[in-house]
Formats: sequence, C-alpha cells, structure tokens
Amino acid sequence: MKLLNPGPVSMTDRVRRALASDDVCHREPEFSALMERVRGRIAAIYGEPGFRPVLLGGSGTSAVEAMLTLVSPAKKALVVANGVYGERMAAMLRAQNKPHEVVASAAWTNAMDLAGVEKALASGTYGHVLAVHHETTTGRLNDIAALGALCKRFDVPMLLDAVSSFAGEEIRMVDWNIEALAATANKCVHGAPGVSFVLAREEALARPGFATSVYLDLVRHANEQKKGSAPFTLPTHVMAAFDEALAELAEEGGWKKRHETYKARSTRVRNVLAELGIHLLLDRDDAYGSTLTSFRLPEGKTYEALHARLKSDGFVIYAGQGKFDGAIFRIAVMGDLSTADIDRLAASLRGALG
Ligand SMILES: *Cc1c(COP(=O)(O)O)cnc(C)c1O
Repeated sequence: MKLLNPGPVSMTDRVRRALASDDVCHREPEFSALMERVRGRIAAIYGEPGFRPVLLGGSGTSAVEAMLTLVSPAKKALVVANGVYGERMAAMLRAQNKPHEVVASAAWTNAMDLAGVEKALASGTYGHVLAVHHETTTGRLNDIAALGALCKRFDVPMLLDAVSSFAGEEIRMVDWNIEALAATANKCVHGAPGVSFVLAREEALARPGFATSVYLDLVRHANEQKKGSAPFTLPTHVMAAFDEALAELAEEGGWKKRHETYKARSTRVRNVLAELGIHLLLDRDDAYGSTLTSFRLPEGKTYEALHARLKSDGFVIYAGQGKFDGAIFRIAVMGDLSTADIDRLAASLRGALG
C-alpha cells in the first residue's frame, strides 16, 4: 500500500528494516549515542548554529504541545490561524491556561491575516507569535518570511508548527525570528511514527520553561538529553528507524533535493487532475507547498467512493478536515514513491475520475 495521506508516509525497506533492529535499553550508552547521532543529523538539515533538537516520544502534536511550554503565562501569545493546526495551538494554550489571542483568517482558504497580525503587534505586548508553516488543512504554505519580518520589527520570537514542512521546504530560523519549531519523524523525513522533536534556540532551553504537564516538559527533556539521558522510555526501535531515515535524507541530497522531488510529484498530480476537470481548493497553484494538494470533490462523487476506488489500486488518499469534511480530498506526495508509483497513481486517478 502506498500512503498519500500527510503522515505517516510509506517507508523505504532500509528504514523498515531498522524497526527490527536489536533490542536496546533507553538508559544504556548505545542508546545515548543513537540519540546524539539523531540530534546531530536533525541539526544538520538546515545547519543553522545555536539551535538544539530535543527528541520526544509521540506524534507531531506532542512536539507542538511540548514546544508551547516555552510560552509564559505572564505574557499574551498571538496565534495566527488559517486551518485546523493553528486552531489546535490555540486549544493547547487554553488547556495550558495561558493568555492568548487568535488572529484567524476570514476563511481557511485565505492566507494568514498579516494585516491583523501587524495591528495586534503594534497595539499590544506579546511574548510569542505562534504560526503554522505548511497548513495541512488546505495545503497552503504560509508566508513565514513575511510573518518573521513582522516578528523582527516588533521583537517578538516565533514558535512554528513545521510538522509537515520540516525537511521538505525552506526554513530560515534566524531570518524568520524563530525561537523554536516542532516537527516529526514520519512526514518529510520518512521515518516511522512515534518520535517527534522540537528544534529550539539554546537560550530558550536554558531558561526555566512553563510546563503544565510532567510528560511534555520540554526544558526537562532538553536538560536530561544534554546529559545523554531521557526522563521516560523512548520508542527505541522507532528511533533507530528515524536515524536511518535521516541518514537516507542526507545521502539523497537533503531538504532541497527532497523539495524538488515533492514538487515534481505534486505538479504531475495537479496536471492529471486538471486534465480531468478537477479544481484546486486554493485559488492559486503557487499558494501550495510541495508536499500536499487539496482538490474540490467533483459533483456526484463522494469522498468515500473515491477513497475506496484508489485504495483498491493500492493508494490511500486523505479526506478534508473540519469545515472541508465531505467537500474536498487531499493527495500528499511524501514518502517512498517511485516514478512508476506516480504513473500508476495517474492511471488510477484517470480511472476513478475520468
Ligand atoms: C501532521 C501535523 C501535525 C501533527 O499531527 P499528528 O497526528 O500528531 O502527527 C501538526 N501540525 C501539522 C501542520 C501537521 O500536518
């Protein structure tokens, strides 16, 4: 089966084999060495000095939630939302009892409301700006460079949900005023689900955090990992697979090469569907990132029928979330997919929608 949902993604045999590697205790020196290697490989993807990866057991959401323990309850946070994942960060701050405001776009199909962000930053005092890089709800790649320029101007650090963009899109930590970002093993890095991470400024991890949970206390994880330890059991085999996936990513040419590969695959998928008269959800082709495209379901087709038809050909596509449930379908192109797989997908889409 080939997974065309936005994570988990199809793994290579090399990564899958690592899941069956030898048993290791998470408190033994060989696991410390593995974690150190993984952290080094993560830091090398964008290669900006001054940032440290902190590894966590759990899906991408756990990394986002752990990252938000850097938010102080003494200052308001500003959440920029144009989809499910921006709204989810606001829900996390609510759960952590931290004051915040949300600048939501008028519609999820819109870009971030940067004018609204500017107005808020100009009139209030905020401790952090929270944003989503690739908003997987629609497939829009948010303009984090422009948001980062505002953050710089008003001297407010940014916390970024980069779960579905890390290793697949350009990310500039310093230029965009990013204090920390959250990401996962099982999207653009092509690892197995179960490990996620936060990449944070050294100084942010050196300060006391504002954790409201014992398990997702980011600063505690960072301190223990600095000593080569981990506060709780980590998914050891998933970590070994993550290490292989990171090695494979570097050998294949890093995030830039992966970005080009995804772009070529997405362009192919969009062209096939355009020929079939299927419309994009977003108004412009260039609003999308490289990893995923959202399409409007054509008249007379249900998502369930389309999904079942493609699944019978060996492909799992993805439904709309929230407001788009039943109105759209999404095709992600991350993971181990060959040119022949994409050819088969094109044929399957023509069969299902032609
Ligand atoms: C996938 C994703 C997440 C995390 O989802 P999990 O199900 O916890 O892995 C968070 N943010 C974005 C933008 C995502 O695409």
